Amino acid sequence: GAPCCGITGGEKFMNDVKFSSVVELSRALQAKEVSAVELAKAYLERIEAHKDLNCFLDVRPEVTLAQAQAADKRIAEGKAGRLTGIPIAHKDIFVTRDWASTAASKMLKGYMSPFDAAVVRKLAESGMVTLGKLNCDEFAMGSANENSAYGKVFNPWDPKAVPGGSSGGSASCVAAGLAPIATATDTGGSIREPAAFTGITGVKPTYGRPSRLGMIAFASSLDTAGLMAHSVEDIAWVLGDMVGFEPWDSTSENMPAEDFTRDLEKGVKGTRIGVPRAWFAKSLDPEVASAIEKVIAEYRAQGAEIVDIDLPNADLGVSVYYVVACAEASSNLSRFDGVRYGYRAAEYEDIQDMIKKSRNEGLGAEPKRRILIGTYVLSHGYYDAYYIKAQKVRRLIAREFDQAFEKVDAILSPVTVSTAYDFGAKSDPVAAYLGDLYTVPASLAGLPCMSMPCGIHSNGRPIGVQLTCARFNEAKMLGIAQAWQNVTDWHKRHPNGF
Ligand code: GLN
Repeated sequence: GAPCCGITGGEKFMNDVKFSSVVELSRALQAKEVSAVELAKAYLERIEAHKDLNCFLDVRPEVTLAQAQAADKRIAEGKAGRLTGIPIAHKDIFVTRDWASTAASKMLKGYMSPFDAAVVRKLAESGMVTLGKLNCDEFAMGSANENSAYGKVFNPWDPKAVPGGSSGGSASCVAAGLAPIATATDTGGSIREPAAFTGITGVKPTYGRPSRLGMIAFASSLDTAGLMAHSVEDIAWVLGDMVGFEPWDSTSENMPAEDFTRDLEKGVKGTRIGVPRAWFAKSLDPEVASAIEKVIAEYRAQGAEIVDIDLPNADLGVSVYYVVACAEASSNLSRFDGVRYGYRAAEYEDIQDMIKKSRNEGLGAEPKRRILIGTYVLSHGYYDAYYIKAQKVRRLIAREFDQAFEKVDAILSPVTVSTAYDFGAKSDPVAAYLGDLYTVPASLAGLPCMSMPCGIHSNGRPIGVQLTCARFNEAKMLGIAQAWQNVTDWHKRHPNGF
């Protein structure tokens, strides 16, 4: 392709590197077969060539290349770690000093943060090179990436299909080979659902394990940073460098550092995998159901014990989630008032009018809808009936999971009832909310949870399967997932033309 933004030299490597794994790139960098600058250029070229997907909201090649040069210097001096020089892109929910941080909202158009989010900072300290900021649903509210103030993101598998949301930019970017790995956030499924819709692997760790510092808040008791890449192995390699205690984050867990690759070769012999069939029998697309059954059969064949389990209150997840998440969102989004930062209306009469107009003009329809729902459920007279009731049911759901994990090591379920749907198919917000039925329960319980590819539907769109484990059992979850990826190649399939 033609050199972008004055960059030359990247195109030479483009076809070699585009679907390389993090592990392969790390080896090539250490062996000096490729430099960090060459890699960064190659990916920047691809990002430019596939601009039409609308994955990126901010790309600044000069900053990326400066980071890549620093990485090359570390490699030359023998000071490199295994992630040094590997490119990554960040969801635009993480604030960054060198790229605008917008949460895909007009409210934060052009906003430059004075600091990097903890997750961004930690990965940069490991030498990873940032390619830019990724599109998403406004304030991470959505399931289809149709709610961005900067336009929808396209799914590389099919231009008519949604990429999933809210991390649609992260999903399409990785699926299209525009970055080997990307950060994302998951409040109620925003990593797992887009991973399923784009045929990649997405991991949401335990709530509190990665720091929320510098993650633009949507629902603070649920928001969790995670990773999207092609394989479990790639995510296991990077996750350890992303998580960790942050003294400035009161919800950050102080856990010893862990090697998340440690169970990758363990296999599933004797592993107890729970299947809550009563929960997912009803509305499932038959081809999704049969793909899930194949995963179960494979685990059984590898020596896992398949256990029938019950999650009787999981069905209430969507109702509980949309009360709790909206309540917290209405509080979190009150900071966007036109006074402290972000968009301010050009003309107004007094301060009340300024705040009203700034919020009215700066926020999109979905955040407004959630502020209204959240304010309602928190208001005097409804607080007990909705918010407190939701908190109680949330606790029941969490307890049900705890009981299940006394009997099983992991829970296997669908991620979504169908493959990616067409743009516009769920313009009714309630229809979109109901689509989150399989992803929100693990969020309400704060559990590590992931999605990985397990088939391609006859409609040509990818299918995902979900694994959930007890709190802080990420390594175990990744090991179980690896046992599937060891014997299948769904995670190695790529969309045509990319
Ligand atoms: N789809 C869910 C919602 O719209 C989840 C979003 C998320 O995880 N950020 O709230």
